[in-house]
Amino acid sequence: MNNLLETPIEYLKGVGPQRGELFRKELNVHKYADLINLFPNRYIDKTNYFKINQLQNTNSEFQIIGKIINIKTVEAGKGKSRLVATFIDDTGQMELVWFRGQKWIRESLKINEVYVIFGKVSQFGGTFNMAHPEMELLTEHKANIRSAMQPVYPSTEKLNNKGITNKVVNKLMQQLFIETHALFSETLPDYLLENLKLIPKKEALLNIHFPKSQDLLAKAQFRLKFEELFFIQLQLITKNLIRKHKIKGHPFETVGDNFNNFYQNHLPFELTNAQKRVLKEIRNDMGSNAQMNRLLQGDVGSGKTIVALMCMLMAKDNGFQSCLMAPTEILANQHFIGLTELAKDLNINIQILTGSSKTKERKLIHEALENGTLDILIGTHALLEDKVKFQNLGLAIIDEQHRFGVEQRSKLWKKNDIPPHVLVMTATPIPRTLAMSLYGDLDISVIDELPPGRKPIQTVHRFDSNRLKVWKFIKDEIAKGRQIYIVYPLIQESEKMDYKDLMDGYESISRDFPLPDYSISILHGQMKPADKDEEMQRFAAGKTNIMVATTVIEVGVNVPNASVMIIESAERFGLSQLHQLRGRVGRGAEQSYCILMTSHKLSEDSKVRMETMVRTNDGFEIAEVDLKLRGPGDLMGKQQSGVLNLQIADLVKDRDILQLARHEAVKLLKTDAPMEKPEHKKLREVFIEMSKKKNIWNYIS
Ligand code: ADP
Ligand code: MG
Repeated sequence: MNNLLETPIEYLKGVGPQRGELFRKELNVHKYADLINLFPNRYIDKTNYFKINQLQNTNSEFQIIGKIINIKTVEAGKGKSRLVATFIDDTGQMELVWFRGQKWIRESLKINEVYVIFGKVSQFGGTFNMAHPEMELLTEHKANIRSAMQPVYPSTEKLNNKGITNKVVNKLMQQLFIETHALFSETLPDYLLENLKLIPKKEALLNIHFPKSQDLLAKAQFRLKFEELFFIQLQLITKNLIRKHKIKGHPFETVGDNFNNFYQNHLPFELTNAQKRVLKEIRNDMGSNAQMNRLLQGDVGSGKTIVALMCMLMAKDNGFQSCLMAPTEILANQHFIGLTELAKDLNINIQILTGSSKTKERKLIHEALENGTLDILIGTHALLEDKVKFQNLGLAIIDEQHRFGVEQRSKLWKKNDIPPHVLVMTATPIPRTLAMSLYGDLDISVIDELPPGRKPIQTVHRFDSNRLKVWKFIKDEIAKGRQIYIVYPLIQESEKMDYKDLMDGYESISRDFPLPDYSISILHGQMKPADKDEEMQRFAAGKTNIMVATTVIEVGVNVPNASVMIIESAERFGLSQLHQLRGRVGRGAEQSYCILMTSHKLSEDSKVRMETMVRTNDGFEIAEVDLKLRGPGDLMGKQQSGVLNLQIADLVKDRDILQLARHEAVKLLKTDAPMEKPEHKKLREVFIEMSKKKNIWNYIS
């Protein structure tokens, strides 16, 4: 049976080489099995009949029984006309409208005969109408016994143009069921079907393509979604188990002098409970024999840096080196300065390595790394170069993980025979359900509490026409000694235009905030790293009042005296980016503000984004909205979109099923991790088959 499903698609009766080619190219359908797994996007429900007084203006399709009582041609000027029929049932009347083929249609319509009509309904001047309805006499309708729920398959313009319509796909699907005798073998163990009341695979496939009723369709969808998510979870969790068993880490057995000394004598503030909790989680992990692979999530400003330092102190106390990798030079520099300051009373050698490190410095760093006198190395991608060799790297920390590709992470990993513990820190709040499915192999720690005394940032949305008022507000804040960020969008595709916007903005700001009363910094991607750094330092030292910048400052920059963040063309930013930018203020004791500047023309999505930002400071809530607006693929960035390439489940809508699938996968693997029990034989086969095909391994950590 399985062999039959491996048959190339062109061998299916009705396909042939030409259509086969189209199926491959347009739908990624290569063989019978792929077609079986081409699930409909939606269904047209022809099992329900609606009355005219039940119609709603929801842009949906309705099926109605009634009759035509009159037909007329309505002239619309310029030689155009339409055919309009009045259609009634016992509850009211509506109009049927045709623009094309009027003559032929007029001839074929029968007055006062009972029709079943079907189509999209819209409302115009109080009357419902349906344009170009599908129609059938009730007598024919009854004779045509067919599956009443009509599946609508994914399609493309090209397929349609080549005559591969939905109807054709439907027919081919029928042919597929005939040729294979619908002998689809079960993939899940019996006890799961029983416990979770799942319908068998065969029945599920039949009903997903030819639903007999809404009820059976729902059951088929549930079963197939569960199966899909279940196998993904099995993969992710298995991978985690293998890692924990096979990959030995460096056990950090002692809690030593540096950690204790720092904790007892040099903490600049009391740690929050959340910080203490995650430290304990990380300590437990690194203390065991297995290698740690942990994601540390914490909203902007939640204090991840000090946690990172304390973890690196643990490494030092156990005789290991550590590194901290940041996505930009500015950020690496800032970490270097901040961590050096925090650790100034400890006997720790901290260095920085970036793309602009001088050859001489590099050489010294390479030496110190290899002879083990260097304890903590902070840097950018430069850390990944082959020349950078540690004597004994015990812990690698990656800040702001979403900027790094997966490849880069595994490069770090390969720097030693025994891989270092890995801690990935991110301020992009990934909703837990999504994190679970994308990072099922990473353990997760969350700092869900901000340091005390922070005043929530006040966010407002202003239109460009209110700029004068905004400028006045800035002047008042500067008079109080505060500093201001003004950020312009930078989007890859139109870099030149964005650069011009930025420069125009800078010029007009310079006019409105003239020397010597005001001084302005500027920061953008086309500057040399050293120049960027100098501007950043000037601003951080309070030498300039306003920082005009592109999103290069998005990540991690920490200037506590800056209290106002102005985001220009805010409608062009995504929610998570807006939230990251806003997180640059509100870091000191002063009340901080975020002003979202937009034009009057806003799309519906942009409106939701602005409203969300104004309503809440909660990164997780924002991430949920973002997820709803954009879908999970986008949220994770292009790099990771489509990683899971789901056939039927939807990570946002099917969270409950995801949860269930994860729960069951954990339970199964707890009792039978190798899937050796007789009842798991089939499961194991499918699992191995799937792991070969869908290599989600490569994408994750
Ligand atoms: P992020 O999680 O965004 O990287 P940081 O580590 O940069 O946040 O911390 C933000 C600011 O909060 C820093 O100025 C830091 O010194 C301060 N901070 C961190 N933890 C605490 C705490 N427990 N109490 C008071 N301030 C803290
Ligand atoms: Mg940070």
